[in-house]
Amino acid sequence: MEGSMATTHPPTIPILGPLQPGTTQRHLVTLPGAALADEARPVTTITGAKPGPVLFVGAGVHGGEYPAVETVIRLGTSLDAAEVAGTVVLMPVLNLPAFWQRSMFVCPVDNVNPNRVFPGDPNGTYSEQMTHAFTNDFIAHADAYIDLHGGDIPEALVPFSICRAGTTATDAKAKELATVFGLPYLLAVSRPIQPAKGSSSYVAAAERGVPGFIAEAGGVGQLQQDAVELLVTGVRRVLAHLGMSEEKIADVPAPILLTGFEWVYAKNAGIFYPAVGVDEVVHAGQAIGKVGSLFGEMLETIIAPVSGRVLFLTINPAIQANGLLMGLGVTE
Ligand SMILES: [Zn+2]
Repeated sequence: MEGSMATTHPPTIPILGPLQPGTTQRHLVTLPGAALADEARPVTTITGAKPGPVLFVGAGVHGGEYPAVETVIRLGTSLDAAEVAGTVVLMPVLNLPAFWQRSMFVCPVDNVNPNRVFPGDPNGTYSEQMTHAFTNDFIAHADAYIDLHGGDIPEALVPFSICRAGTTATDAKAKELATVFGLPYLLAVSRPIQPAKGSSSYVAAAERGVPGFIAEAGGVGQLQQDAVELLVTGVRRVLAHLGMSEEKIADVPAPILLTGFEWVYAKNAGIFYPAVGVDEVVHAGQAIGKVGSLFGEMLETIIAPVSGRVLFLTINPAIQANGLLMGLGVTE
């Protein structure tokens, strides 16, 4: 669908059934896939009175990122179909098993991080079936896609967006939309963040010709209202930029561009004592924390592998061997 801003209005999104112009509709959608019949997922559509693009906004790929979830819920109750040009499709929680069980990072059914197995597999595990259905039945029908995240239950973070660094028109559009969204930092990454079976939501979108990006705000398992405000405003900026609303929103400074994302792990299991905070700049070689044993011995000093900015930080001190401590955004 590259470059094809929806030609028909209302759009045809088969899994949702008929959409009525000028209305907000609530759908309970059972995703295709043998494992996914467990629970229908709430989806709200705002089909504008006027034609325009299809914007898909989702959250809850990770189950404990509450400001992102709340943002999608709030958009569903606040956007006015009479004022919207085009169609906004909203799914507040993809990974419902993780949401209900408050599981961090993974889906508790298969212990898989869904954002590492996109575009999924219709015959795979629960997370693979889920990301496959999500990609085909939602993302593929959109002209643009925003995947809202935040720090998960043990993570504090500074708000940032992530898009793919690439040379296609879709990559350029994704970066443009992520810039418009207005968070203080934008990571344009060219390689996977972690070795994984698959890739992330925005990469699967790009491969379908749909410009997509991740926007992250809030964390530590709480519902910070300022984070919700940031994310809601970001989506509204994108709506205005795409000509889907006439709202005028004050400009913000262009994001600081980061080109690398370096994740730092502990070698040893133990208690983590960070020596830095989120949004702090660190220098390669700097001691940024320690890990101690349960006897109180110092097991290791954590050294910054690169210079960069602390974008997220694990704030719960219990750390397993090879446990994730923080992510550094790098300017190259
Ligand atoms: Zn997440």
